[in-house]
Amino acid sequence: MKPAPFEYHAPTTIADAAGLLADLGDGAKVLAGGQSLIPMLALRLAVFDHLVDVGRIAELHGIERRGDALWVGAGTTEAAVGASVEVASSVPLLAKATPFVGHFQIRNRGTLGGSIAHADPAAEYPAVALALDASMDVVSSRGSRTIAARDFFDGLWSTSMETDELLAGVSFPIWGGRCGFAVEEFARRYGDFALAGVAVAIELDGDDRVRRSALGLIGMGSTPERAVTTEAQLAGQPVTEVDAEEVGRSAVAGLEAVPSDLHGSADYRRQLGAAMVARAWRTASAEARHG
Ligand SMILES: Cc1cc2nc3c(=O)[nH]c(=O)nc-3n(C[C@H](O)[C@H](O)[C@H](O)COP(=O)(O)OP(=O)(O)OC[C@H]3O[C@@H](n4cnc5c(N)ncnc54)[C@H](O)[C@@H]3O)c2cc1C
Repeated sequence: MKPAPFEYHAPTTIADAAGLLADLGDGAKVLAGGQSLIPMLALRLAVFDHLVDVGRIAELHGIERRGDALWVGAGTTEAAVGASVEVASSVPLLAKATPFVGHFQIRNRGTLGGSIAHADPAAEYPAVALALDASMDVVSSRGSRTIAARDFFDGLWSTSMETDELLAGVSFPIWGGRCGFAVEEFARRYGDFALAGVAVAIELDGDDRVRRSALGLIGMGSTPERAVTTEAQLAGQPVTEVDAEEVGRSAVAGLEAVPSDLHGSADYRRQLGAAMVARAWRTASAEARHG
């Protein structure tokens, strides 16, 4: 099938894009890499009268250190994120998540901002953003604001951005000290969305106790999920005494909206999720201890 007819707009500044979104109202949709939006239009799962292509806006591209955070422009491709030395050294969790995002052809077109704005609970970047307490820079013709990741993902494929707002960039806090990071997921075929997965960050103190940890669950609810109860229980524990299997069981215990479909029941996904968490915990804690 082909998309329903639409009018195409290609602004070259954030201000122009914001102006178009304000003027065109609900009939307009931002187009970035098109890797999620175009299939939806082609299948007529969504119809918009106007597409505002943000791919030519230079201000949306780039990766730069801003204080204690790494800012990634929304229009930065997933491939550029994966190839960035700065991302690999400052936000290793983002670098480790990138190879799991579809296939390289998709990552060449797909953008970090598109993935986060699309807010698929089975996508990797939203879970990483949630785990690391990232903040989203959002712009409209009414002004700009910052939305914390915990307030951003508010439902299935839904965010707290208004329809006239544009995601300009995402700031990922940089974790220093004795840290370890791991992403584990299970998908039926390479490049498919995960049936269940997790992004784990751990920081240890000098005595090998857990100073803090972050567990962002992938595909385990209607939004990316954060295992906050488990994280609180882990704080202060000697990492060598933590049972990774128990971390896995605990992380999925309180989940209320685990999907169930022809790819796997909710029970299956829970077991899978627990196994992925255990695996990632082991990898991340070993990296934090031994570098
Ligand atoms: C076969 C296939 C497999 C895939 N597998 C995975 C996978 O395993 N993991 C994964 O995470 N993703 C996967 N994807 C999706 C891919 O990562 C997309 O690139 C991404 O979800 C959307 O990015 P995009 O730049 O293409 O956005 P688009 O498709 O252009 O837009 C997606 C949505 O975000 C909105 N949007 C985009 N940019 C902005 C912005 N700056 N401000 C406000 N709203 C914006 C659009 O309006 C639209 O609603 C897959 C895609 C395909 C086709």
